[in-house]
Amino acid sequence: MSENQPFQLLPLISEEQIKNRVEKLADQIAADFGGFELLVIGLLTGSFIFMADTVRALHRRGIKTWIDFIRVESYGMESASNGKVEMKYPLSSPIESRHVLLVDDILDTGYTLQFVKKYVQQKNPKVLKTCVLLDKPSRRKVSIQPDYVGFQVPDAFIVGYGLDYQYQFRELPGLFIVSFENPKSGFTP
Ligand code: 5GP
Ligand code: MG
Repeated sequence: MSENQPFQLLPLISEEQIKNRVEKLADQIAADFGGFELLVIGLLTGSFIFMADTVRALHRRGIKTWIDFIRVESYGMESASNGKVEMKYPLSSPIESRHVLLVDDILDTGYTLQFVKKYVQQKNPKVLKTCVLLDKPSRRKVSIQPDYVGFQVPDAFIVGYGLDYQYQFRELPGLFIVSFENPKSGFTP
């Protein structure tokens, strides 16, 4: 994806579909963690909207959550990720013996979640589960299976609902594919 190539956004998953799915995920998470306070750790920046909706859905189900964030950076993401992940903003919360839910926007090669899962696991949580809004299983490079998945998506570049392309489109309420191939069928932002 080069910087100045024209592109359009093709609708993939609507705001309504996301809302319904978040409620279903919260049902599942509440059933698994019911009765316990949950430390929810989001990976910045892409997960921030999904995480905000998820913790409020959990609140409606009587689950108290604590919030923290981690920022990591991956290198070689442009083409095939080379698997190098670096911690940019580590955790400040104590983890030991707590119930932890790790939230990311999208699971692609799996390098990011694998790295962060290991990082959190080393701090000895009582329970550690992972939740991703989107899963692109066709792109996986490492064997990792998230505990909760919003939607499986095709091998395309996706924006909206927290996810960006060149720092744009995080605020879109739905999810869209960035399309360079058929710049007629979607809309030009
Ligand atoms: P992984 O390490 O699994 O290859 O990459 C995960 C990270 O890559 C995600 O947290 C996200 O930041 C970024 N990423 C992967 N695929 C997409 C995509 O389709 N759209 C956007 N906006 N980011 C993506
Ligand atoms: Mg990310």
